[in-house]
Amino acid sequence: MTNASNSAQSSAPVPNAGTRVLHRTSTSIPPRAVRGEGIYIFDQNGKSYLDACGGAAVSCLGHSDPDVRAAMHAQIDQIAYAHSGFFSSDAMEELADELVASAPEGIDKVYFVSGGSEATEAALKMARQYFLEIGQPDRKYVIARRQSYHGNTLGALSVGGNMWRRKQFEPLLITASHIAPVYQYRDQRDDETPEAYGLRVANELETAILELGAESVAAFVAEPVVGATVGALAPVPGYFKRVREICDQYGVLLILDEVMCGMGRTGTLHAIEQEGISGDLQTIAKGLGAGYQPIGAVLVSKKINDAIANGSGFFQHGHTYQGHATACAAALATQRAIKERNLLTNVVKQGENLVAALEAKLGQHPFVGDIRGRGLFRGVELVADRETKDPFDPTLKINAKIKKAAFALGLMAYPMGGTIDGVRGDHVLFAPAFIIDENDVAKIVDLFAGALDDVFKAEGLA
Ligand code: PMP
Repeated sequence: MTNASNSAQSSAPVPNAGTRVLHRTSTSIPPRAVRGEGIYIFDQNGKSYLDACGGAAVSCLGHSDPDVRAAMHAQIDQIAYAHSGFFSSDAMEELADELVASAPEGIDKVYFVSGGSEATEAALKMARQYFLEIGQPDRKYVIARRQSYHGNTLGALSVGGNMWRRKQFEPLLITASHIAPVYQYRDQRDDETPEAYGLRVANELETAILELGAESVAAFVAEPVVGATVGALAPVPGYFKRVREICDQYGVLLILDEVMCGMGRTGTLHAIEQEGISGDLQTIAKGLGAGYQPIGAVLVSKKINDAIANGSGFFQHGHTYQGHATACAAALATQRAIKERNLLTNVVKQGENLVAALEAKLGQHPFVGDIRGRGLFRGVELVADRETKDPFDPTLKINAKIKKAAFALGLMAYPMGGTIDGVRGDHVLFAPAFIIDENDVAKIVDLFAGALDDVFKAEGLA
């Protein structure tokens, strides 16, 4: 039966009539993005959208960058793709060289994949293989943090602590344990310093390791600055130092998820640089290729690479498109552009401008509870009551309404939270391209304030 005859027999609206694409929601078809320029995307009707979240913290160079386009064209003119089981490529080798040269201490190799979830999967499997290679086969458990997100494939979803995303797939997931995140705004006690709070939550890792039995724990996974699920939560001083200490004490690997917060987003190339430690494995993705091509990677420490290289000699994993030459060429041009144009200095400067502008315009707003983050990775948490920090009733779906109102005004802002299980409150994430200036910052904040007004008026709250 065709769609047409289906709809003729039913008075209910046909979900997504007019498209064969299975879109993210069945109730609406998004506009078509037909052109991009700098921080703007244009749809088929010529409407412009200021991309204040880089999609999902991806588009760090802006859209249609001429250098990246030229590098991709040059690569395609030579060869677009050759299977990594047969060939390496100049682009892949040069990108790996640059990534290792600028990586946190101890990182020695790069394992390329096509995105963030694939990077999490590869890191988890590499951790497991490491323990097999060194004769500790009982190490199988992974510990992560509540409210975390590390990807949507089954392994990555298993370690993630976002209950709403996991719920319907629970029977398919592997076992993982979850400890408290660092969530200063809500969880630091009045009588605690940030350092004491950090120590308290980091020590939950030790408790979890001892409960599971240290000899059976493989890895702890955490985002240095949390982006997904709860917008832009930075760690408190000393937290990651203590985490590193605990991992070392019990022989547990530390996997840092820098898929969203990495590659310059927080003002340093790697967010973990600001914490003074490094991981045993570190995932990167979004900003690596800036959206020009799908690409991610696992940065692999010498310790892990040596164990595998001197053991079975090969990581038992692989994807058809890993190390895709055009993706590597795009990422190489992106990373060189960031360096040559000194864009991380602008990330720090405009990050400070953005937080100052948000504070000035919305710092006293009755429903703005917290403004936070690092670099051009900033979050705003909305609350029903600033005194008690009570969140809005999740069924109001405040964050989804803000996304919609902002989009109508021509602003892309990334909504988070507001779900019933596991996430407290409504959050909005800002992660604009590293090329923005003061005027762009002012526009973002004005449009966002307008969207808040529209939503709270419609809810009868303003
Ligand atoms: N880890 C983190 C921290 C992320 O933010 C994301 C994507 N939002 C992922 C992993 C998964 O990445 P991808 O969507 O590219 O699979």
